[in-house]
This record gives sequence, C-alpha cells and structure tokens, in this order.
Amino acid sequence: MKVSRYNIFVPLHQNRILAYNGMSGGLAVWEKEDYQTYQQVVDGKPPNNADALRELAKGGYLVNDQIDELAVLWQQYRKHRFDASTAILTIAPTLGCNFNCDYCFQGQDKPQEAMSQEVQDALFDMAVQMVPWIKHLHVAWYGGEPLLRKSIIESLSERFMHVCDSTGVRYDAMMVTNGYLLNAETAKSLYQRRVKQVQITLDGMADYHDTRRTLLTGKGTFQRIIDNVKEWIDDVPLGVSVRINIDDRNRENIHGLIDDLAAQGLANKKNFKLYFAPVEAMTEGCHIVADVTMQKSRYADLETNLFRYAFEKGLTSLPYPPRFRGTCGAVRPRGFVVVPNGDIHKCWDTVSWPEKRIGTVFKLEDIRQDEQAMKWMKWNPFENDTCRNCKILPNCAGACAFKFVHAEETRGEAAILPCPSWKYNIKERLVLRALKMGAITSDDYDFDAVKTNPAQLCADVHIPGKSLPDKMKAAYAVAAK
Ligand code: SF4
Ligand code: SF4
Repeated sequence: MKVSRYNIFVPLHQNRILAYNGMSGGLAVWEKEDYQTYQQVVDGKPPNNADALRELAKGGYLVNDQIDELAVLWQQYRKHRFDASTAILTIAPTLGCNFNCDYCFQGQDKPQEAMSQEVQDALFDMAVQMVPWIKHLHVAWYGGEPLLRKSIIESLSERFMHVCDSTGVRYDAMMVTNGYLLNAETAKSLYQRRVKQVQITLDGMADYHDTRRTLLTGKGTFQRIIDNVKEWIDDVPLGVSVRINIDDRNRENIHGLIDDLAAQGLANKKNFKLYFAPVEAMTEGCHIVADVTMQKSRYADLETNLFRYAFEKGLTSLPYPPRFRGTCGAVRPRGFVVVPNGDIHKCWDTVSWPEKRIGTVFKLEDIRQDEQAMKWMKWNPFENDTCRNCKILPNCAGACAFKFVHAEETRGEAAILPCPSWKYNIKERLVLRALKMGAITSDDYDFDAVKTNPAQLCADVHIPGKSLPDKMKAAYAVAAK
C-alpha cells in the first residue's frame, strides 16, 4: 500500500484528524490508531491494525502500490469532459441590458438587438441535428439581460421541449438574470418551460448595491429585485441562486446584506441560496476594476467567514468540494454559446469579441476546423505542470479554461493564478462541512488554527512564461505560512 496523492488533513484536538480524499470524495474523522496505521505506511513499516488499514483503503486514503492515481484521474476526467451525450446550449436572446454595472465583462456599450427569427430557426435546427446523438439537452439563458426578450425564450423553449419530449431526450434549463423583470408571472412562465434555476446577482446592502448595479437611467434596483423574489418564492419551485460579487469596495458590506435578506424573510427557504464570487478583471470590458479586485488569499478568508455566517442565518448550504469544476460547456464537445447574430462561441466570456467566435449557426460544418474551437478543445489541465501536480486537481480540474486559453486578456492576480478560492480555504470549508454533518463539534478544533496553506497544494505559478509580481510573491509567501 501507498498513500494517496490527494489526501488533505486538518488537525483536531486530542490527536484526531479530519481527513479528506479528493479522489474518493471521502471525509472522515480519524482516531489516533487510524493515523498511526497511516504513518506506518508512510514510514514503510508493516501496518499492525488490519481494521484501520481496511478502512483507510476504503476511504481512498491508501491505495495499492500498482495504482497510478494520476492516470486513473485522467481517465475519469476524459470520460466526464468528452461525454457527448449531453449538449449544453448557452443562448443570449440579446446582449442588451437594462443595467449598467461597472465591472461587466461585456463593457458598457452593449448592442441592443434581439435574436432574429432567422437565427432562432437556425439555432433550433442545430439542436435538432444534435438530438439523435444525445440524452440530455441543457439550455442556459444568458445575455445581456435575457428577460428583455422573454418572448424569444418562451418560443424557443416550447420548440426545444417539443423536439426533446418526442425523442426521449431530457430537457431542462437555467437562467442568468439580473432579476429586475422576474416577477411572479415571469417566474411561473419560466418554470413551466423547465427553467429549474435562476442566478441573480446582489452586490451588497441596498445603499451600496444601488450605486453599483443601477438601471441605465441610474436608478437603484435592489428593492425591486427582492420584492420580485418575495412575490413568488413560496409558490413557484424555481430555485434562486444569489451570486454576491465581492471586491475591495464592498467586502465590508456583505454581512449586512445577509442580515438584510434574513430580515426580509428569505432565510430557510428550500429554493433560495446565496453564494459568493470574487470580481476578477477577466476581459477588456472590465479591466477598469483590476485595481479593486481582492487578493485571492484575503478573499478566501472572507468567503469562509461569509459561508459560516450565511449558513447560520439559513441562507446558504455549505458546498462540498466539487468534482472537475473546470469542465464547463466551453471545453465540452457539445457545449456552445449562441449570440443574437448567430455567432457561436465556446465561452460565456468571449461573447463580446466577434473575433473569438468559433463559427455561426448558419455554417455548422465549419466549426470542426475552426482554429478558435481547437484552442478550447486542446486545452487540458493535465498538461499544465502546476495543475498536474496539484492536490486538488480532482476537484478543480483547471477551474476556468478562459484564464489559460486567453491568459493574455486577464489582469490582476487572476492572470497568473487561475486557481479558485478552494485552493485558499478548502480546510476551513471541510471543517464547516464536518460541523454541519455532526461529525465534529466546535469543541473539536480551534478555527483560527485551521488554515489552508496553498503552497502545500500546488506551486504558485501556472501560466508558462508568467510569474507573480514581487508584491504578490510576498503576499503569497505570507498566505502560505
Ligand atoms: S493548480 Fe490551480 S487551477 Fe490548477 S488544478 Fe490546482 S487549484 Fe486548479
Ligand atoms: S471557460 Fe471560464 S469564463 Fe468561460 S464559460 Fe468556462 S468557467 Fe466561464
């Protein structure tokens, strides 16, 4: 037996350990004898506790000497990523928006045109061509603000539902919306058209949100979004995932937002949950916010704290480490983003750059040969030295291909460190999770002593030819201690 390369340990009081394995997904509390057995294997001594040995192997913490875990992981990743039985169509019925957010990656001057009937018909034909080869069609409605063109969503949904239902293909959808037009009538209409989940963004308490996410006229939007959700959240089983974008400007504001949402009666709802995301300067449209993005390790500390706070208020669940998070539609064989003029992209973040398209709905046969399409399909986190040797590769799988494929476009820390916040707070999150499961109590650990050390998970530089600026190197070294 040998030890797995994907073990992560959190020390608990009284010589116990919270042990996680990224391959198996196992999370367990080890007693002293478990750790002693593990240590015997590390030291190359014959283990003398057969029961403990069996349990450690069952949890994936120990593996047979002959197993090459990286090769097994690669096989699992390939099967998952290149599974062509699911098609993911992200559809922007318009790139126009009724909001004017300063960090929007699509920039401030968005084209207002709607998707024409001709493009809708060609897009539908594209879906029809895929249907014989797939088991599941998933649509993500996207924009701009998709609800500005609700009739297009309703009409295309009906057509997709009809063709899928008549051929035994599962159909479902989600939507990314700013929530301003999502009243009860619209929520019902979406749910009837199998939209199961909507993602809405809030940026802080009303006063702050209303300076950052305004209508084009400059008017605030916070209370209208909340009132919309309150109007139907108990009657329509549409899931709401509230994304809270955080940067240096609003990081002090988020606890207040959580308090406010609880005070407005949105806590402990089955279909209303928050999650947090760092603002990143990913594309030219949002480079202006590069100076206010948070350093990753600081963001991760805050995120852990916010998850704990929101969980206690009944406003979030505690996410388990994901599996292959980096396999979004952009890197899948049947993942396509279609914009109003019929251009097809791979990634949501390139929709404002026509030169980064991979083709058009009017000439599907050209996509296979397209140079841009090749870039996405060839990208592979297992070929990046840092990812390949990373302890959370089974969870992360490169996180976001855009930051590698278009590394030249990103600014700030994201340009050099594509890693998600899990790399900076996985131990803290595992502890919160174990607490929720009742596997440990708050007397079992000292929360301030539980700190993820990113340097123990992988190296600090990911993009060949790029290195951290000195200021960031110093910060990274501090975070790694
Ligand atoms: S090195 Fe970073 S991007 Fe790559 S797998 Fe690890 S955490 Fe993810
Ligand atoms: S590559 Fe990154 S930005 Fe593009 S769709 Fe995937 S996760 Fe989103």
